Amino acid sequence: MAERLQNFIDGGWRDAGAAACVDVLNPATARVLAEAPLSPAEAVDAAAKAGAAAFREWRRTPAGERIQPLFKLKMLMEENLDAIARTITEECGKTYNESVGEMRRAIENVEVACGIPSLMQGVNNEDIAPGIDEHMIRQPLGVVAAITPFNFPGMIPFWFLPYGVATGNCFLLKPSERVPMTSAKLFALIEKAGFPKGVVQLVNGGRETVNAILDHPEIKAVSFVGSTATARYIYSRASANGKRAQCQGGAKNPVVIMPDADMEMTTKILADSAFGCAGQRCLAASVAIPVGGARKEVSERMAEIARTRKVGYGLESSVEMGPVISAESKARIEGLIGKGVEEGASLMVDGRGRKVSGCEDGFFVFPTILDNVPPAGEIARTEIFGPVLSLMHAQTMDEAIALVNERAYGNMACIFTSDGASARRFRYEVNAGNVGINVGVAAPMAYFPFSGWGESFFGDLHAQSHHGVEFYTQTKVVVERWPRDWSRKF
Ligand code: NAD
Repeated sequence: MAERLQNFIDGGWRDAGAAACVDVLNPATARVLAEAPLSPAEAVDAAAKAGAAAFREWRRTPAGERIQPLFKLKMLMEENLDAIARTITEECGKTYNESVGEMRRAIENVEVACGIPSLMQGVNNEDIAPGIDEHMIRQPLGVVAAITPFNFPGMIPFWFLPYGVATGNCFLLKPSERVPMTSAKLFALIEKAGFPKGVVQLVNGGRETVNAILDHPEIKAVSFVGSTATARYIYSRASANGKRAQCQGGAKNPVVIMPDADMEMTTKILADSAFGCAGQRCLAASVAIPVGGARKEVSERMAEIARTRKVGYGLESSVEMGPVISAESKARIEGLIGKGVEEGASLMVDGRGRKVSGCEDGFFVFPTILDNVPPAGEIARTEIFGPVLSLMHAQTMDEAIALVNERAYGNMACIFTSDGASARRFRYEVNAGNVGINVGVAAPMAYFPFSGWGESFFGDLHAQSHHGVEFYTQTKVVVERWPRDWSRKF
């Protein structure tokens, strides 16, 4: 029987008390790996109360001491990188190298949060009036929570966790019930890193668990990453309950290719962006817009790359692309490809109905390219979240920018060009918070905010870096006079 995972609450591993569980499957083989418990509201309540109790001491712990368990955690993550990457590949499907890359980004966030003693410094002015000083200090909120998606189980919790605890909050993670094993492995390291009990906690679960987080009075802030529909819901319910919220949603990322781009480099990078992680990346290129004379070469090169990409089990070293997360996801993606054809697109490369030898039960969709996708159709606007690239064509840069800016999502937009003026205009005019110039996945480093716009983000302060520090702290402004001070001039 598959292992039923536990929660990590108040410094120990606890049975979730769940009435129901979700099978965690290896998407390459459909084999059951574990059971994720759907924790009831009582588990959230226990974690929130343990967090609130721990907060009293944790917020008084000097920042320089609070980061010591993070230094230790970084070393533990480095030492266990191979095992964690394998777990990511097993439960999420991406290739081993992609899993290692994901963990490097997680570690980078721990490193940046170790700078919290300077990152959370306040500001002050002496003598705003004679003998009166004014200070702005940052104080933690209390218990904060993050709810994360399936596609980066190792990295996305670390967009939040290190900043949350380093700033003096107690942190609760609710990972995706489809990929809970990576969190279990990471929390085994967190257990060893030396955080006081109640400071970092793990509650597995699904919708009801999330609702309990959104409604719990002890939880002061909620970070979310997932689909736009859920992001909107979580943002509304959390803010209606008086919580801070930052909610990252879905995406439909366009890439413009100018005729003067280096075509070999561009198409290689574009393919990695569109088909990497089987397209299950919020920064995946999903619409390519070759401009004018770029059309023929982009189409031919992309078709060739799509047809020859090696698809299979991500733990095999020669494999370049793994499966999608579930049978439902495969069916949905294949249905959307069919819908694209119905809408008038032509199927340049069809990745449907293909099997991987030795993994016949796996949820594989091979790289797919839809050409001449009608800009007004559903496929041009819907997030497919699979290895499907849509080609739309523009005659001029004006037309290309108009196509980019028609989108409701604003997670990322990229341009490939050798002309600085085109690049600058694109950077200036596009409605997207993360912009790539001759870059296919414009993922901000941990010391920059992850800046989704439009339907890709609900909130104002983003994840990572100084935005994370501001999100997890409230400012207090103190105006101070000491009448017996030597400088008194009254
Ligand atoms: P999802 O919205 O289905 O689930 C995300 C989390 O929300 C999970 O923990 C899940 O348990 C919970 N959840 C799902 N439905 C819920 C509901 N009705 N009520 C309460 N909680 C609910 O997303 P997913 O399928 O796991 O992830 C893929 C999506 O995430 C894609 O849309 C992708 O673009 C997006 N994503 C966005 C970013 C970003 O930075 N903007 C990054 C990664 C993924």
